[in-house]
Amino acid sequence: MTEADGVALRARLSARLPARWRTRFAPAPTGLLHMGHAVNAVYVWSIARAFGGSVVVRIEDHDAGRSRASYMDAMLADLAWLELRGDNHAIGLPTPLRQRDDEAPYQQALAALSAGGVVYACHCSRRDIVGPFPEVMSDEQHYPGSCRLAGIPPQSTAARRVQLADESVAFDDLRHGPQRQRPATQCGDLLVRDRHAHWTYQFAVTVDDLRQSIDVVIRGDDLLASTGRQIMLGAMLGRPAPILVLHHPLVVRADGAKLSKSAGDSGLAELRSAGWSSADVLGYAAWLGGLQSEPTPRAASELAALWGGSA
Ligand code: GLU
Repeated sequence: MTEADGVALRARLSARLPARWRTRFAPAPTGLLHMGHAVNAVYVWSIARAFGGSVVVRIEDHDAGRSRASYMDAMLADLAWLELRGDNHAIGLPTPLRQRDDEAPYQQALAALSAGGVVYACHCSRRDIVGPFPEVMSDEQHYPGSCRLAGIPPQSTAARRVQLADESVAFDDLRHGPQRQRPATQCGDLLVRDRHAHWTYQFAVTVDDLRQSIDVVIRGDDLLASTGRQIMLGAMLGRPAPILVLHHPLVVRADGAKLSKSAGDSGLAELRSAGWSSADVLGYAAWLGGLQSEPTPRAASELAALWGGSA
């Protein structure tokens, strides 16, 4: 981010954020925290602390097949080491806040959508959707609605999809400006529960942002394409006011690939063992995220100052 972009973003944040608001830091415990998470955490906590927001720390363990309690413990230990504290307790939410600790809201949301006649059972595997040559497909897979048209008996599978209206969704990203997305064309009907009866990311995150009264979503650019469908699903579940969103740059490796937990890129624990301090990590992350011009150390208590505010 150039200095001018930073100044413009700060002005938009001051103008658009309400006096009190909530955001969230929502890692999936499918690996260890890495520098990509640290960049996200610096955006989340610096903006919250500078502009009067609260941070909900939410452990996104909806995928029971890939989530591990040991990863969650390690993530929480890393956050404590970084001195990044969530405000869960102050706003009456548990710590840790795990998706799988309270499944009733997902059941209720699915029941509400079912009552609206937009839910159907689906037998399609990923392979059925992408075909035998997944390498020629883009990241985004479009579901053509085959099982909706075929009419699958609901008792034959746990998997459920929600039919999306063929409409576009307009929203304003605080960094990217006005956006228009058409989820029915991008991804087609959304899978909300898979055949193992696990809630999907798109569904769980929408229900959680709603039930935890999240006003502002701050996350990496890789999820910008998911925003329209989450807003649409939120509206189907009765979300009254539009949420604000900010998608920030992703950390990329030298070869241009996105950093990922599974790719074995340096975890924060690894950096800590190599002698980095928590301020070294946060300062480096702030620099990678374009929030400061040098990778100089920055303690958690100094994050608000990235926006010209006090800690
Ligand atoms: N749990 C998601 C992840 O770890 C982030 C969810 C979100 O910010 O919407 O990538």
